[in-house]
Amino acid sequence: MIILVVNAGSSSLKYQLIDMKNENVLAKGLCDRIGLPASLIKHKTFDGRSLEKEIEMPTHRDAIANLLKVLTNDEVGVIKSLDEITAVGHRVVHGGEKFFKSVIIDDEVMKTLEECAELAPLHNPPNITGIKACQQVLPNVKQVAVFDTAFHQTMPKKAYMYALPYEYYEKYKVRKYGFHGTSHKYVSERAALLLGKPIEELKIVTCHLGNGSSVAAVKGGKVVDTSMGFTPLDGLAMGTRCGSIDPAIVTFIMNKEGLTTEQMDTIMNKKSGMLAVSGVSSDFRDLDDAVEQGNERAALALDIFAYQVKKTIGAYACAMGGLDAVVFTAGIGENNSKIRKMICEGLEFLGISIEDEKNLKRGEEIDVSKEGAKVRVLVIPTNEELAIAKETQKLIG
Ligand code: AMP
Repeated sequence: MIILVVNAGSSSLKYQLIDMKNENVLAKGLCDRIGLPASLIKHKTFDGRSLEKEIEMPTHRDAIANLLKVLTNDEVGVIKSLDEITAVGHRVVHGGEKFFKSVIIDDEVMKTLEECAELAPLHNPPNITGIKACQQVLPNVKQVAVFDTAFHQTMPKKAYMYALPYEYYEKYKVRKYGFHGTSHKYVSERAALLLGKPIEELKIVTCHLGNGSSVAAVKGGKVVDTSMGFTPLDGLAMGTRCGSIDPAIVTFIMNKEGLTTEQMDTIMNKKSGMLAVSGVSSDFRDLDDAVEQGNERAALALDIFAYQVKKTIGAYACAMGGLDAVVFTAGIGENNSKIRKMICEGLEFLGISIEDEKNLKRGEEIDVSKEGAKVRVLVIPTNEELAIAKETQKLIG
């Protein structure tokens, strides 16, 4: 079974074509600058062939049509005919309260997706556009929606309700949803496999640390709490996002600086986090370089980040009544051994203790904890595309 995985953004569309027989990625690529001048497609195949070409792509439908042409063309194609594609799996950021697992897309699902769109105005509309484009170009192929929020739908009410007037929950569905669910699910399941124990018996904290970062408490395979909230702005301080702050600061700064809601939103999402504290960059590689050169604000940014992750691990151990494993994943979690060390230092009382030499490894599945440590610390590269393809395969049967 060959599955096309699509992750559609407002002006870009990432794709992977995966052969589920051996879980091999046949090809992957990106349609960039959709609807803008000089739109281009970047495409790579499993056997090292590649293409980077400017192609006019005024709409997502054009992007899908072009990527399908590339997948079947003579020079860089990997399939002979589009009939070889059994299904398309779509990443959808927000599934609201309606979707607690992946679904095969039909008219009813599309209607509900449109209703959820206002909960994720930046992400869901392009996701929907991507689905519609695929439906038009591949009308006979089953489409599946895999939601970033779905894995977190097992949270108990005490974890997902905010202490705001109850009517805001009833009228507007204001509650904690959580994001990166596909990644948290994938790495928690891999962790159980690596530990050789049924996931039902494990208490795992999964740390997805990238440009956007979130932590989840996974007890018995089900999320009981997570750090992102109503939106992906909540929780940890991130590359450019402020994370959790005293909510009174928002109106205070708006009044002082005479800002509109849109301006304040931009500040909290794009001009805060590591970028704001360091004054250098949102990228942890740049922050590491700056620290080497003695930049104190860059060091402060890393301190804040590591401290917040550390506190969240402790809080989630309490929420689960114990801890068997901590998993690090995503760009920072997989590659930045210094941050992993900063997070784990001082958590020996919980049973966490990592081996410096093992911790230097990157980009591979590895248990970096000291022998005999009560809590296993694992580095597990995430693979959201494969997770989406597996969910799609499961639903298609
Ligand atoms: P993500 O959003 O998962 O792509 O993660 C982006 C963050 O991961 C950036 O802050 C990068 O500094 C960090 N990162 C990604 N790849 C690497 C790498 N190979 N080595 C070190 N840091 C990396």
